[in-house]
Amino acid sequence: PEERVANFSAGPSALPISVLEEANKGLLNFNNTGIGIAEISHRSKEFLAFLANLETLIRDQLHVPDTHSILFTQGGGYGQFSAVVLNMLARHTLLHPEAEERTLDYVVTGSWSKKAAEEARRLAAGQRGAKVNVVVDGRPYSKDAKSFDNIPADPTSYAWSTDPALIYYCDNETVDGVQFSGDAQSPTAFPVQQLIAAAQARGAPPLLPLVADHSSSFMSRPIPHLADHAIIYAGAQKNIGPAGLTILIVRQDCLPDVDAAAALGAQPVPFSLAYKTLADSKSVFNTPPVLPIYIAGLVLERAKTLGGVEYFKEMNGRKSAAVYGAIGEGEEKGVFRRKVQQGSESGMNVVFEVLGEGREAEFLKGAEERGMKGLKGHRSVGGIRASLYNAVTEEEVQKLVDYMKEFIGQGS
Ligand code: PMP
Repeated sequence: PEERVANFSAGPSALPISVLEEANKGLLNFNNTGIGIAEISHRSKEFLAFLANLETLIRDQLHVPDTHSILFTQGGGYGQFSAVVLNMLARHTLLHPEAEERTLDYVVTGSWSKKAAEEARRLAAGQRGAKVNVVVDGRPYSKDAKSFDNIPADPTSYAWSTDPALIYYCDNETVDGVQFSGDAQSPTAFPVQQLIAAAQARGAPPLLPLVADHSSSFMSRPIPHLADHAIIYAGAQKNIGPAGLTILIVRQDCLPDVDAAAALGAQPVPFSLAYKTLADSKSVFNTPPVLPIYIAGLVLERAKTLGGVEYFKEMNGRKSAAVYGAIGEGEEKGVFRRKVQQGSESGMNVVFEVLGEGREAEFLKGAEERGMKGLKGHRSVGGIRASLYNAVTEEEVQKLVDYMKEFIGQGS
């Protein structure tokens, strides 16, 4: 439709037009039930079949092995900041009831992993022997020694603890535009292989307690070493659908009986945050977010027909390369400045600065006039942020790139 603009928002963010049109129909009449999707029981056979199909779409496209359950819940990223800590501490208590220390290893490469570590610290304060270890913080390695602009590539800068209750990282830092490499061999990939080797050398159990926030990169590309993760979670509101749905991929040894753990002294876990509750009930313990699940299902059905995560990896790669290329041209002319160090740039959230007094506001105003919105950087860091999620088309990105080049021309 003509009145729609190119939406570069960081989330909630663009959805495919064909999906929105289909969803319009489902709002009135879901799968020929005569009932709209927002009105139908979550226990109806039609909805349960839709939910089971959504699980299959994710399992097939990401090659999730049978060792892992796929769960759907509410509560967003913040809900999982808490849930991962409570469930993994309960698991650790069951495995090591007598342990005096329960260490939570956090890799902090941006604003969201920093916030997750803060939540872990709050929750650890209530549990015997629990503490947070910041394995590495990206800021000392940044250009100005205070920003998140890199994935530390030197393995010696990572201070891992032995046998932690969890190891946490955020794949893509939405605010700072910093992302682990999707190429497992790259120095800026998350070092799963090293962790496995280190655990083996210690004779520790081979099941890594590895937890990853994939909120802003889920389904945008394959997940390296997916099968070695304990928990992967993602809020839906970037690549998948509307806000309100949180997707979890949980290895089955990470569905602890939280009541048995509480009997051994672990902190009680709310029903709605306990992974075992979700798994035992096939994600319908309580009412799941029916409408976001519906739209996510349509989005991933469309993704499947296009070729799944491999297709999006290629397409998203072309999109981000085009925008980074334009930033590079602007940098040569003194108009733009890149923020993120080479090798750590996000393929989803491209951040940069517009140099010169008042020029950023001018850039944003010109973008709006040309039908492009959502380009203002996060309030905590400023600058420009172009989010290039799956539903942002190559044509829309070309429009942005053309505008950036036009803007560079004016600046010189
Ligand atoms: N993690 C990441 C990577 C995010 O981008 C966000 C939100 N933008 C969150 C966590 C927090 O998610 P929510 O707002 O759903 O709680």
